[in-house]
Amino acid sequence: MIDQINALLPQTQCGQCGFHGCRPYAEAIASGSADINQCPPGGDEGILDLANLLGVAPKPLNTKFGQHKPKSVAFIIEEDCIGCTKCIAACPVDAILGAAKFMHTVIASECTGCELCVAPCPVDCIIMTPLPAGQLPAKTQKSAQARRRYEARCLRKEKEKTEKAERAKKKKEALLKMKSANVSNA
Ligand code: SF4
Ligand code: SF4
Ligand code: SF4
Repeated sequence: MIDQINALLPQTQCGQCGFHGCRPYAEAIASGSADINQCPPGGDEGILDLANLLGVAPKPLNTKFGQHKPKSVAFIIEEDCIGCTKCIAACPVDAILGAAKFMHTVIASECTGCELCVAPCPVDCIIMTPLPAGQLPAKTQKSAQARRRYEARCLRKEKEKTEKAERAKKKKEALLKMKSANVSNA
């Protein structure tokens, strides 16, 4: 059921529903601890899909969680970018390219429009631009693509965390070894 609910969510991974991504929200709906009308990007269409799946009555979007907006993508005003990388760290689907002290750019075809990169930018050079109707990708295709990229990013982050912990452990062990060798030599 969680997978079926998650498949209906937009995979914007914006957190507006009050959960850290679409899947945790799907888990909360499945367990009955969250309502079906908390996802602003999904809007009324998404609520109707969820209601049909769960066999419950649809209800209006709870605007406490935000307003449904037209699809948009982020755009970086490249000449103003200072290359701080804060936007890369914030993007849940790895849709930003760049390196420290170099100009950054958004891969528009991968951007979900979550807006999570906007606030961290210290020079306000990221703007959201509406997608013209003709450029709107198929909903299911875009969601599946965003979910794959989000899951790949989560796996990479988890791997980086494990590797960091292993490096710290090895460093600590080497230090302890060095200390005990010094004590033996004294
Ligand atoms: S897209 Fe909807 S379900 Fe996914 S994180 Fe945003 S508000 Fe939550
Ligand atoms: S580029 Fe910005 S708006 Fe687009 S997906 Fe990444 S964080 Fe969200
Ligand atoms: S957060 Fe802003 S200034 Fe920093 S790299 Fe991203 S676009 Fe450039």
